[in-house]
Amino acid sequence: MNTVINPATEQVIAEYEVADAAAAEAAVERSVKAQREWARLPLSVRRDGLRAIAGIVEAHVDELAQLEATDVGKPISDARGEIGGVAECFHYYAGVVDKILGDTIPVEGGVDMTFREPVGVVAVIAPWNFPLPIASWNIAPALAAGNSVVVKPAELTPLSTRRFGELVAGLDLPADLVQVVSGPGRTVGKVLTSHPSVAKVSFTGSTATGQDVMRSAADTMKRITLELGGKSANVIFADADLSRAIAEAPMSVFGNTGQDCCARSRILVQRSVFDDFVAGFVEATRALSIGDPLDESTKLGPLVSQAHREKVTSFLRDDLGTTVAGQVPDGPGFWMAPRIVVQPDPSSQVVRDEIFGPIAVVLPFDDEQDAVRLANDTIYGLSGSVWTSDVGRALRMARALECGTLSVNSNSSVRIQTPFGGFKQSGFGRELGMAAIDGYTELKNVYIKTDL
Ligand code: NAD
Repeated sequence: MNTVINPATEQVIAEYEVADAAAAEAAVERSVKAQREWARLPLSVRRDGLRAIAGIVEAHVDELAQLEATDVGKPISDARGEIGGVAECFHYYAGVVDKILGDTIPVEGGVDMTFREPVGVVAVIAPWNFPLPIASWNIAPALAAGNSVVVKPAELTPLSTRRFGELVAGLDLPADLVQVVSGPGRTVGKVLTSHPSVAKVSFTGSTATGQDVMRSAADTMKRITLELGGKSANVIFADADLSRAIAEAPMSVFGNTGQDCCARSRILVQRSVFDDFVAGFVEATRALSIGDPLDESTKLGPLVSQAHREKVTSFLRDDLGTTVAGQVPDGPGFWMAPRIVVQPDPSSQVVRDEIFGPIAVVLPFDDEQDAVRLANDTIYGLSGSVWTSDVGRALRMARALECGTLSVNSNSSVRIQTPFGGFKQSGFGRELGMAAIDGYTELKNVYIKTDL
């Protein structure tokens, strides 16, 4: 039995029987049949199937957002936007169904062409921080390319994905095309990463679990996409529009209460504006309202669980000189106010490890070279930002920083149309945009001899 808790109230909001390994195996076997049926359907029917999924999500935005807000502790206004993004994702990939192209390649003695074939059954293993959005970034392109999917949500926050599974099961699509199997990583997750009939695993989660997934997938040579942890840099030069950089910095690290793989949790600021930045950043962070996730004005909710709060607070040590920027509600809930750590030792854990909570470090740098050295001094390489008014510097930095997704004069990371994914130990493979299709197709080359 899995008991789901609202992290803002500590009340039980759902209980359900968890799936076991046998249920996961049965789901995979059904998925094989569903995939064959789906891949044979005309393109227009598959396109309309994805549109129907977008439509059913749109028709249930409020319900799904409410589930996400009470399950994750996420502000309702964020949750509504994210569920709207889920529908957008299915609309986008509905448009991709008939645009999965091959090449014709000049060769001697004949004609050569490539086709992109579906990989087969795709297992989607999702984390707890953006449950349905991240699942949809994988489900939608997988379906567009002619695959079936078995989705495993995180045990902490399964509700939106479970409801999504029920809604999709009511649509006129091949039976079992999209199945949601809720159960633990060590049983259900293990089946999905090792079953011979699963062709591809799309995993989003921590780097440590990603390593397990890779090992487990190796025996049957599965295709894998890994979207893992991060410790992204927000690099602010003295020539930047400092007021904008300050205004946008708090939500880029504390949004979703810091439980964001793209959190710009290492803020690097050029020395001449360092003190001004820190003063403005602390003030702007204090202005973020912390409280009831169902209140429309709330910017920050609680952390997802008591265990996670313990993990996050274990990074705080007296000698760090942390500034507490905000006031949390009294009473139940796994609350934690944002913490700002100014000039910690660059080799300390708080600078090096992914914390996945509301703790930001701010470090000074001297020049461009120093900024690149500090920004790249991490095992991760997911996202990053550069703030400058010098176009040449923006481009030099964009090329020098080791990360998959970089923004200039912005802290955004994710757009449905553009590739998203990590360098280094933040994983490999790309989600979203047309790039995601590479991960859900096998490239087949066909040569036809014409010079007989
Ligand atoms: P996690 O690694 O603990 O769990 C992720 C998922 O894997 C869950 O569904 C879990 O049940 C499952 N799982 C656990 N053990 C497994 C196993 N042995 N085999 C198969 N599946 C298993 O991660 P989390 O705590 O849910 O999420 C937080 C982490 O996710 C952070 O590190 C964060 O940076 C990362 N994340 C990355 C991205 C990205 O796009 N790069 C996005 C969101 C979160």
